[in-house]
Formats: sequence, structure tokens, C-alpha cells
Amino acid sequence: MDNNQKQEARTIITEFNITPVRDKHSEYLEEYTTCCLCGSELEFSHVTNFIMHQVAEQAHCSTCSIDHINQSHTLQ
Ligand SMILES: [Zn+2]
Repeated sequence: MDNNQKQEARTIITEFNITPVRDKHSEYLEEYTTCCLCGSELEFSHVTNFIMHQVAEQAHCSTCSIDHINQSHTLQ
């Protein structure tokens, strides 16, 4: 151990590795909009039926060629 290493060892009391905390909303959105198989961004399509007050939502991964989300939402 040379003099520089000895000096550094004496002056460093503690070190912190601080990582930014992501909020739950961002984590949910990223999980909702990416393919769980390959991580690609999903392509969403929405078809709205104004008579039935329903929105049909579909999410497709063009990399995997798989439809991931196929659900219906009610208009308010
Ligand atoms: Zn995929």
C-alpha cells in the first residue's frame, strides 16, 4: 500500500451508493406498456363503441407477434 492509498483509506469514513427511487406509477406504466416476454414496447389499439359505451383495448407485440392485452373498458 503506497502513501496515496494509505491517505485515502484514512479519509474515507463511509461510502453510499444512492440509486434514484422510481415511483410506483412509473413502474406500473412501464410494466403495462412493455412486452413481458421480450421487453419491446407494445402497440396499443382502441376501438370505441359509443352506443354501448365500451372501449375495446388490445396490445400487440410486433416482435413476438403475440396479443398481450385484450380487455374492455366502460366509458363514463
Ligand atoms: Zn414481445
